[in-house]
Amino acid sequence: MRLPKFDYFAPQTLEEALRLLTEKGEGARLLAGGTDLLIRMKAGLLKPQAIIALEGIEALKAIRYQPKVGLTIGATAKLSEVADHPDIKKHYPAVAYAALETANVQIRNMGTVGGNLCNAAPSADNAPTLIAMKGEALLAGPKGERRLPLDQFFKGPRLTALAPDEIMTGIFVPIPPPHSGTAYQHVSARGKVDIAAVCVGVMAIFDGETCREARIVLGAVGPIPLRAKKTEGLVQGQQWTPELIEKAGKQAVEEAKPISDVRASAAYRKMMVAVLTRRALLEAQKRARKR
Ligand SMILES: Cc1cc2nc3c(=O)[nH]c(=O)nc-3n(C[C@H](O)[C@H](O)[C@H](O)COP(=O)(O)OP(=O)(O)OC[C@H]3O[C@@H](n4cnc5c(N)ncnc54)[C@H](O)[C@@H]3O)c2cc1C
Repeated sequence: MRLPKFDYFAPQTLEEALRLLTEKGEGARLLAGGTDLLIRMKAGLLKPQAIIALEGIEALKAIRYQPKVGLTIGATAKLSEVADHPDIKKHYPAVAYAALETANVQIRNMGTVGGNLCNAAPSADNAPTLIAMKGEALLAGPKGERRLPLDQFFKGPRLTALAPDEIMTGIFVPIPPPHSGTAYQHVSARGKVDIAAVCVGVMAIFDGETCREARIVLGAVGPIPLRAKKTEGLVQGQQWTPELIEKAGKQAVEEAKPISDVRASAAYRKMMVAVLTRRALLEAQKRARKR
């Protein structure tokens, strides 16, 4: 499979990239690691006339952890850098784990968390945890910058709230609240070489043994990563007994909208939503007890 012909641009600043994006209009595509984009181009699914590579823009690469503010992951920070970052591993373990569980080492050394979100596959490994943790997309366009909660970012398979002339510059994740815990759980039919058939991200905040707030996000079981809001309501304000966790798994199944495809049947996905939701809730609770 060969790539179609295109003009290639390698801007060195965000301003230059934004100018090029406006100038080239609908025929332009941004390139981060290319592990989604180039494959779709080779398969003939996309034929952009202009590719605007973000790799040369230093400002988009940084990962910055500020203890009183939060974590900013630059849009072109590699998945492997996020997975290995000591502050992310320590303060955002589920974020590091989701990045580590994305694809294989070659892909993680090229692909980015930003690209994973902008590509907007319903199965994107990094989306559920970042949404559960109240992450925000940092977006820049010709009119300036804006921040958008990630639970409003996804609009459909491969559709996002990004305007055609906007670039994601990074992802912001607030400081995890005291007594909170997070978890990421996923399953794929063929382990590391396949994308998730089901994935679940959770953040739960406790007052003593009672859950004050829970955010539960289901991936690969709907057109976008889904907040399981009824399940969140079920576990909030409650002490988590084994019976409640069991009920939460069943409720999450009711909120999932899986399809059958090459990766899994809808029936299998439903079963796994129950299993992974239960596991993620228990893991988040365990982590919260240590904080
Ligand atoms: C073998 C293989 C295995 C894979 N396994 C997994 C897996 O297990 N889990 C998983 O979730 N994914 C998987 N993927 C998909 C892919 O690797 C990830 O989604 C990766 O994170 C994409 O990042 P990228 O930087 O390569 O994106 P790119 O391919 O560069 O870009 C993807 C899309 O996002 C747009 N984009 C990129 N950056 C920006 C930006 N800053 N602002 C606006 N738009 C932008 C691009 O224009 C493009 O449309 C796999 C891919 C391959 C080839």
